[in-house]
Amino acid sequence: MEYYNVADIFGENVFNDATMRERLPKKTYQKLKETLALGRELDIETADVIAHEMKEWAIEKGATHFTHWFQPLTGATAEKHDSFISPPMKSGKVLMSFSGKELIKGEPDASSFPSGGLRATFEARGYTAWDCTSPAFVRQDAAGATLCIPTAFCSYTGEALDQKTPLLRSMEAINTQALRLIRLFGNTTSQRVVPSVGCEQEYFLIDREKFLERKDLVYTGRTLIGAMPPKGQEMDDHYFGAIRERIGAYMRDVNTELWKLGVSAKTQHNEVAPGQHELAPIYSEANVAVDHNQLIMETLKKVAYRHGLQCLLHEKPFAGVNGSGKHNNWSLVTDDGINLLEPGKKPHDNIQFILVLLCVIKAVDEHADLLRESAADFGNDQRLGGDEAPPSIISVYLGEQLQDVLNQLVRTGTATHSIKGEHLDTGVQTLPDFLKDATDRNRTSPFAFTGNKFEFRMVGSEDSVGEPNIVLNTIVAEAFSDACDRLEAAEDFETELHDLIKELAADHQRIVYNGDGYSDEWVQEAARRGLPNITNMLDAIPALTSVQSVALFEKFGVFTESELVARAEIEYEIYAKKSNIEAKTMIDIIRKQIIPSTIHYATRLADSVNRVRTAVPGADVSTQADMLTQVSALLRETKDGLNELEKLQQEGAAIHGDIVKRALFYRDSVIPAMNALRIPVDQLEMLVDKEMWPMPSYGDMIFEV
Ligand code: ADP
Ligand code: MG
Repeated sequence: MEYYNVADIFGENVFNDATMRERLPKKTYQKLKETLALGRELDIETADVIAHEMKEWAIEKGATHFTHWFQPLTGATAEKHDSFISPPMKSGKVLMSFSGKELIKGEPDASSFPSGGLRATFEARGYTAWDCTSPAFVRQDAAGATLCIPTAFCSYTGEALDQKTPLLRSMEAINTQALRLIRLFGNTTSQRVVPSVGCEQEYFLIDREKFLERKDLVYTGRTLIGAMPPKGQEMDDHYFGAIRERIGAYMRDVNTELWKLGVSAKTQHNEVAPGQHELAPIYSEANVAVDHNQLIMETLKKVAYRHGLQCLLHEKPFAGVNGSGKHNNWSLVTDDGINLLEPGKKPHDNIQFILVLLCVIKAVDEHADLLRESAADFGNDQRLGGDEAPPSIISVYLGEQLQDVLNQLVRTGTATHSIKGEHLDTGVQTLPDFLKDATDRNRTSPFAFTGNKFEFRMVGSEDSVGEPNIVLNTIVAEAFSDACDRLEAAEDFETELHDLIKELAADHQRIVYNGDGYSDEWVQEAARRGLPNITNMLDAIPALTSVQSVALFEKFGVFTESELVARAEIEYEIYAKKSNIEAKTMIDIIRKQIIPSTIHYATRLADSVNRVRTAVPGADVSTQADMLTQVSALLRETKDGLNELEKLQQEGAAIHGDIVKRALFYRDSVIPAMNALRIPVDQLEMLVDKEMWPMPSYGDMIFEV
């Protein structure tokens, strides 16, 4: 095995600040820095110089191609590769060239990406534009080495067709409003406030050969049938368990790849379900974190192939054990390193922190539906509200200490003390006593304050974290803006601040909940408090285009109304398409694999009855006969369920013109039929000879990696 020092390889494939400083002419470097600091556009001469150096550097890393790397609304990334080769010269040699124009702007044919009607297919033009705040990198793999340039993706008329454009807009919005706020508290030095994001990524690993035998996993990313093995996750022995060597070797390769790409992969451990793991990088600026999360997902999948493994990023690959999510840790940090969500030792005394905290609480309360929507995706419907993921109701967890501060504020408008962390006595002489955190963790809350950041836990493992961060940035920008409007106009700042804080605390305390988010009592309590409980993706989508959301996003220049309408349309489309694929996959598997195998088995039972009777007249064949009766009855149920599903799937596929109606039909008719069909099939799996069952079982997949 080859050992290396992380510091030697970290970022080696990134055209980062250090590389640019080293390689670019001083003047060019300075120009780029200025452009970045001021958020200006890059002039073409500077771009030409940067492009040239970038190309030279990339070629040294073996790059033959470059690509604008962007994030269309498919949830994944897209790229179109162009080689550096330019027309051969007379000598017959080729030149490797890359111009500033090619760096700054690309023009992929946009007609095959989802646009939700923003762009008719005949208007195929789409533009990609370099996001110089996220560094270019060289990706090396079996396909060779490629210079990847993170870019935004817009239509000919300037509408955003991607995740990055609105994310950058939302970062500007929150920067402007947060600066207003900290100025009011006497900060004159910070120049920028940036949302910092760290995403914990959960995933499953299974053997690739077994994966290929499961057509449901291949086509839909999740198992559509499958009986629970005798053991699930009830022993809690997988969580944080020792990492097996095969998995460890995989994680090592993943880390190496990510470190070279400048992704600061930091934490790795086994998760709750057997076969489930997690990877978390160190947090970074929101747009870089969103790009890095895409790189993490790509790398997890790619490296898995090399190890004969398959990485499953679906939110719920296996029913009955935990699904996967992505915890989105979010805070606001100034360019000079001040975290606005840092409470300090005495939170009650830190008035700026209290105001920031209350603004976040207000934002989440007023836009709970939008935040819920930002985590809605097709796979996440299988997970949210189950017993392991956060419930579908948005609430904020503050913990004992801040809850106590909040109570004081609601009562009097002033908080005079903070509960302190206590000494934890382990009862063992040789172990040091240590100071407990003032706040315990609550894993059941969808939006939890965790020390100096908020952790949004609803996001699905396969989804882009772009949207949740766009929403968070914008709704908090609005709350800051409202607060600043009042405070800037106040005659007496202190009095106005006091009143504002008391009001915010009283008006929005209903969204705060520190109890068990999985309990039924909470569902009832939340209803009493008037909090929305949006249980599925289709009920979540309308929040995107509500009057309130349109006003919010337009006010801060993050989305236009037509962009929002387009996004909603795309989500309905995705829902209808994905559920149609699932239904067709299930039909295919059951018709061509499950029913034939079961018939073979039933026939063998029947043969056995006859053959045993022939061999030993009067022998007891009641076991075979019993089994045959049971299997035949379930086979009948399966076939009936299959007929029903086929009928409904065809009915759904025939709905044209009204995408909402079509999606709703799948949710209300097709998916329930799939769930019903699964029941007899899973019972059959428990009866049919394992040798004859046509695909690996849950146990084979999650315990035998
Ligand atoms: P926990 O174990 O409480 O979930 P960790 O310290 O392991 O928290 O961090 C989880 C993720 O949160 C990591 O990606 C980490 O870098 C990120 N994170 C830590 N502090 C912050 C912060 N101030 N802002 C944003 N993300 C943060
Ligand atoms: Mg966490």
